[in-house]
Amino acid sequence: MSKAKDIINGWSNYFTGGDQTTKEEAKRRAEICATCPASKYGLHTALLPDFTLSEIQGMYCSKEEGGCGCPLSPAVRSAEHQCPKNRW
Ligand code: SF4
Repeated sequence: MSKAKDIINGWSNYFTGGDQTTKEEAKRRAEICATCPASKYGLHTALLPDFTLSEIQGMYCSKEEGGCGCPLSPAVRSAEHQCPKNRW
């Protein structure tokens, strides 16, 4: 999957919820991200509430900590997105 399709897939699943496999994998990833030093609070909370993965609501993967800079809500829901630190 290309980077553009990866991003679109993540946002699509953010808005639609995705299928059961996506939901379960997103939950697994979110629990890992929530305890990762690279996860930081950004300005996404007000614009992009996350009602099903509250542990990463408003968080992004910080480039300053070696992350990808992505908002985590779509990142964990993207089928092909890879954690830059290989944690999931
Ligand atoms: S995607 Fe990886 S590096 Fe980024 S916050 Fe999640 S676990 Fe940490």
